[in-house]
Amino acid sequence: MLPPHEPAPSPLTTMADGTVKQVSPITGTEVWTVPGRANRPIGGPATPPQSLDPAKHGAHCAFCERRYLDTPPEKSRLVRDGDAWRTLPALPAEDLDETVAEFRRIPNLFEILSFDYWRKNYGYEMPADAAARQSAYLATEAGREHVAGVVTQKLRASGDPDTTWDALGDAEREELARGFFAGGHDVVVARRHFTDGAETDADLAGSGTLTPEEHARYLSFTVAAMADLYAANRYARYVAVFQNWLRPAGASFDHLHKQLVAIDERGVQAEVELARLRANPNLFNEAAVNYAQYQNLVVAENDHAIAFAGFGHRYPTLEIYSRSASTKPWEHSAAELRAVSDLVHACHAATGPLVPSNEEWHHQAADVDEPMPWRIVLKWRVSTLAGFEGGTKIYLNTIDPWTLRDRVVDRLFALRDEGRVAAGMRIATEAHCRPNPLLYNPRLG
Ligand SMILES: [Zn+2]
Repeated sequence: MLPPHEPAPSPLTTMADGTVKQVSPITGTEVWTVPGRANRPIGGPATPPQSLDPAKHGAHCAFCERRYLDTPPEKSRLVRDGDAWRTLPALPAEDLDETVAEFRRIPNLFEILSFDYWRKNYGYEMPADAAARQSAYLATEAGREHVAGVVTQKLRASGDPDTTWDALGDAEREELARGFFAGGHDVVVARRHFTDGAETDADLAGSGTLTPEEHARYLSFTVAAMADLYAANRYARYVAVFQNWLRPAGASFDHLHKQLVAIDERGVQAEVELARLRANPNLFNEAAVNYAQYQNLVVAENDHAIAFAGFGHRYPTLEIYSRSASTKPWEHSAAELRAVSDLVHACHAATGPLVPSNEEWHHQAADVDEPMPWRIVLKWRVSTLAGFEGGTKIYLNTIDPWTLRDRVVDRLFALRDEGRVAAGMRIATEAHCRPNPLLYNPRLG
């Protein structure tokens, strides 16, 4: 006799009064959206916009282009000559001002996990190429001065204002500098703080104000850094990639940047996902993308990626899935990377630069055997978690998925008409929405 069939709980339930109850099919997170709160305006500055001071152009914060020496020694930069883009690895301090970095990869001055974490806990040694880079950098006067400046800055900020570079011995200097050359927490910084021609401090340059081409370069430069972090540290089980945009979302500067952090665990969410994935290898098609398609939540798709208004998230969330059969971003083809970038860029553009957001990347960890698709979630940080959430673990999300879809789709059509997002994406009802669009599952190959 067949066992009785128990249907899975529905991720989305609309009640008679209009309350939408959501349960994430991937993490089990429970979320409610109560009616009447969804149409509140979101984003926008708390204070009236201020005119920009022309004297501060290029020097608004430590990530700006006239302040290259305020951040640790660069690992690489991406420069542009017209349509040609070039990566310049490990520039010496003397050459930093010879080109303008469209994007630069630098170590985080205040890393989550330090070089010492890996050295003391695992016996991690500095790789030979990083050691060579450090020697070369410290062999010049400008390089030594630069490292001395950032080490001193770090010591001061860490509550050690009396120690300076000059007071340190050679061994101590080398130890403090090592994290800049062999650390596992990097930042990818974009060139602009404000948009070209900006007049006020509300004209911030975010992901969505980049051109689609610039965004694609930003994304693939970050993917290359991700591969490099895995390659440099065999103890790294996962490289977390994220972008905090604006202070309410955790950013230190209102200057566009992503962060990459190598860690020695897969992360709690990945462990939960893995358990579910073992029971249903097609989970990400069935429970995420197919379901979104049946609920008409797709905002856009192209040949290698699909974006939809997500469900079961604490904040209004757009999810962008790569459809590629390869599960690692650095094994994607150029066309596949571009397709993911175009949809992530379009979602940012539709969100607008004044909405605080977290962009979080998820991919199959180094030691996971179950294929998992690469996906990027974009969370609008428009509400604050409070006592209700803490006490019940039920989260209030002010915008339900269909309302989020409508806001985003309206903007996407307008942005496409203005030529500000990539052509070639199929928006909302234009999308084909065939079942099982994600090819990470080898059974679908
Ligand atoms: Zn800046």
